[in-house]
Amino acid sequence: MDISVMEGATLAADVLGRFQTIAYILAALLFILALAGLSQQKTALRGNTFGIVGMALALVATIAIAIWQSSGVNVVTIGLIAIALVIGGAIGARKALTIPMTGMPELVAMLHSFVGIAAVLVGFNSFIVQPGSLDASNGFHMGEVGLAVFIGAVTFTGSIVAYLKLSAKISGKPLTLPGRNAINLVMLIACIALIVWFVNTIGVEAGLVPLVALTVISLVLGAHLVLAIGGGDMPVVVSMLNSYSGWAAAMAGFTLSNDLLIITGALVGSSGAYLSYIMCQGMNRSFISVILGGFGGTAPAASSSSQVQGDHTETTPQEVAEQLAGSKSVVIVPGYGMAVAQAQFPVAELTRVLAERGVDVKFGIHPVAGRMPGHMNVLLAEAKVPYDDVFEMDEINDDFGNVDTVLVIGANDTVNPAAETEPSSPIAGMPVLRVWEAGKVVVFKRSMGNAGYAGVQNPLFFNENTDMLLGDAKGSVEAILTALRS
Ligand code: NDP
Repeated sequence: MDISVMEGATLAADVLGRFQTIAYILAALLFILALAGLSQQKTALRGNTFGIVGMALALVATIAIAIWQSSGVNVVTIGLIAIALVIGGAIGARKALTIPMTGMPELVAMLHSFVGIAAVLVGFNSFIVQPGSLDASNGFHMGEVGLAVFIGAVTFTGSIVAYLKLSAKISGKPLTLPGRNAINLVMLIACIALIVWFVNTIGVEAGLVPLVALTVISLVLGAHLVLAIGGGDMPVVVSMLNSYSGWAAAMAGFTLSNDLLIITGALVGSSGAYLSYIMCQGMNRSFISVILGGFGGTAPAASSSSQVQGDHTETTPQEVAEQLAGSKSVVIVPGYGMAVAQAQFPVAELTRVLAERGVDVKFGIHPVAGRMPGHMNVLLAEAKVPYDDVFEMDEINDDFGNVDTVLVIGANDTVNPAAETEPSSPIAGMPVLRVWEAGKVVVFKRSMGNAGYAGVQNPLFFNENTDMLLGDAKGSVEAILTALRS
């Protein structure tokens, strides 16, 4: 080769290498800014934009490097990447456009499974390209592959089971096999032993045996861990799998020597773990028991508290409109039912109409209301409810005694007093919004027969100061608006 051509190639490689480093550092910074922005509703949009720009930058840099480094015909590499991008982009765009907000947790769980299987495939590929050898330093590489496959496989089946449970394709009840913690422990020890065996193998054939065995046991472990979790613990599972998928990506980053993947994976892994911890505190669950998949056993679909019987009082939109018109302060507590009914728009309109009449209207949001963290905040933001009117549970829970009327719109478990009064209840100890302390409570739901997500009856409905407004929440709120305006 001509010397000037070689120099040119070296220079181009050098420039591309620097571009990659700068792009990866910038993308990592943008991801950190994205996380910081997403921590508050007011800055969430900006945070999201940072994330999109960071990801676009990371994709461009990674694709540019992959094309430059490809040993085969560049056109083939470009073509393959283009096909993958078009297929992946089309599926992603279609899902994002068609999925309802209520289906978001399922989608997130499914996406986590993709990260898991990607880590497994990257691990196998990395091992076949560079199997165990006599070179001691290769041991690290083999260890990384073993961990990537282990975490990836656990994430893969765990996420699929979470998806199936959340979308009600399988029962949400916890699978409580006798000695399930011992089974998990045995599988975990077997996985550690197989990784040690795998690290000490030489050549593809010898390494494949422990690697395949590790994969199979990890797949079973992931499914069993999540099958054992049920009822109210599911939100923690989703965020925990988010954390697992981050660690799987970080491990894949090690095997691919991709710094950005390591940073991004670590960010997702640690923020997901922290979110799981905060959610466990919010639901009064033990983090360790949830991680070990052992706690769901105490969340049966029908419990003693589902037997609560009593007389309830039904009301009409006209009566509720009169009650609201005569109130000085109103708190609206939305829940999953508001999302199902898509009632956020008339609810936002109701707050405007009441505010015009001088009524003080606030929203009280439980940390696990709906079916994903921040679910209610997203819906209210969509309906342009001012952020200043939206209060977290801890900010508003001591004020209910001074509130004239509370509208519980499609919330159930998150306002269930049994969490405080019935130690045997599956949701015992879960902090709840103490709406019953208000002067009057109006509960919007479709029928008296259905329970909330945890499957337990709610004694709130039978309180003297509670009225039930039965029917679809959207129709009910629209009828109240009509009555207020007439
Ligand atoms: P719940 O799931 O406890 O209750 C929903 C209520 O909405 C029910 O009373 C239901 O009664 C009513 N409802 C449903 N559809 C409508 C409709 N169209 N119009 C009017 N009412 C309707 O809701 P919460 O938000 O209070 O609690 C969330 C639960 O979900 C918690 O147990 C939490 O642990 C769990 N969870 C939370 C996740 C999260 O991250 N936020 C993720 C997964 C689970 P009816 O059917 O009679 O209408």
